[in-house]
Amino acid sequence: MLARHQDPIVAIATAPGRGAVGIVRVSGRGLAPLARRLTGRDLAPRVATYGPFLDAEGRPIDQGLALYFPAPHSYTGEDVLELQAHGGPVVLQLLMARCLQAAAEGELLPRLRPAEPGEFTERAFLNDKLDLAQAEAVADLIDASTEAAARSAARSLSGDFSRRIEALRDGLVELRMLVEATLDFPEEEIDFLEKADARGRLARLAERLDVVLDTARQGALLREGLTVVIAGQPNAGKSSLLNALAGAELAIVTPIAGTTRDRVSETLQIEGVPVHVIDTAGLRSDAEAADEVERIGIARSWEAIAGADAVLMLHDLTRCLDPDYAAADRAIEARLPDRSRRVHVFNKTDRVDAAHRAAVLAGVPEGERALTLSAKTRDGLEGLRRLLLDLAGWHASPDGVFIARERHLTALRRAREHLELAAGWAARRDEALDLFAEELRLSHDALGEITGAFSADDLLGVIFSRFCIGK
Ligand code: GDP
Repeated sequence: MLARHQDPIVAIATAPGRGAVGIVRVSGRGLAPLARRLTGRDLAPRVATYGPFLDAEGRPIDQGLALYFPAPHSYTGEDVLELQAHGGPVVLQLLMARCLQAAAEGELLPRLRPAEPGEFTERAFLNDKLDLAQAEAVADLIDASTEAAARSAARSLSGDFSRRIEALRDGLVELRMLVEATLDFPEEEIDFLEKADARGRLARLAERLDVVLDTARQGALLREGLTVVIAGQPNAGKSSLLNALAGAELAIVTPIAGTTRDRVSETLQIEGVPVHVIDTAGLRSDAEAADEVERIGIARSWEAIAGADAVLMLHDLTRCLDPDYAAADRAIEARLPDRSRRVHVFNKTDRVDAAHRAAVLAGVPEGERALTLSAKTRDGLEGLRRLLLDLAGWHASPDGVFIARERHLTALRRAREHLELAAGWAARRDEALDLFAEELRLSHDALGEITGAFSADDLLGVIFSRFCIGK
């Protein structure tokens, strides 16, 4: 354990700004004397005690509830002191400064320092209160942008994901034990594979891993969401479509900073999956763009398009049989990437008849996705919502999904590859038993990275530095 993990730490645990209540939290060893100095009394463990929080002269800075959790029965596994004061920024700063000052008085707790982001949770991990996947779920719960994401983070936090990983690891341990025992008796190698049904066990483990991987992929989608770009000529109905999509469910609307001519992104949700929609207003070629600001906005739009999960090419049904209009559409399309992510959306069905619609659809190139809808009447909107989820690979219901990160997916894929390689050695039936054993070990280790059974200190640094301070 690094020295910094030994220091007592203090932070304002509540969000910045004004609130009814604000919390200053301290974690470390031997906090009882500090608690006494701050509150003027001995605090009973895990009991809310109402009273003043005292400055150096013994005058109250504020009054509130003090909670003392002696180690190991606390969030971090160390002694934890929580001061629940009034939630004003000045009060909380004073209280935090007072904690540092009181700790310095008479060398009471000389190493007390402000906490780094995520340091409380990092300690919970280091003291075996949470495994790494659960610790990450704490941050994901706080950052969740939809109800489904929050619920799945809570599921991971309760250990649902970790238990599935541990079950896979247990299966691998059993198999490794068999193999390693056999390694000591080389003449029985070939027999072993038959008798212990090593290949059968391996195949079943791989199947179970695939199920976990699939669920984790869904969880990652809930966490990250998908990015959808709406492209098309002015007046095709881009903003109307965005509004229609947003209106279908209670939307969380977050415009990204920028001018009105810049791209605008809003996050909405479809069945609980966050969908970041970017409206590429006023897409013209750089040469036509009037000024520098507009050119920058346009460059950003193209960046967004390049990274999107789906690009909706919006056409105005009432105009797209007009050759000039169609040529302008094709000019935009020519600059859109990767046909596999492109969907032609023909808008304004309410203004054309069925024959017109059919004539337009007949012109869609072979193999390209197309649908018709009306952003105004919302006719056909549900089809688009389904298609977006399909494109993203969402097929779960949010119940039963645990939140997951790219890091977990990478580790799961690696574990899966090593099982594959192990199966290859098992099939060879020659002197490959030690290689078989080695692949099982590597698979086992890859899974261990998810829960933190194996984790480098720099990995911990990366994970916890993205937390908010005080968590
Ligand atoms: P944008 O420039 O691509 O963002 O297009 P807007 O969303 O501003 O729409 C341009 C015009 O088309 C507006 O007057 C909208 O009311 C209208 N409009 C958009 N969608 C529909 C639709 O489905 N049906 C009809 N009749 N009008 C629409």
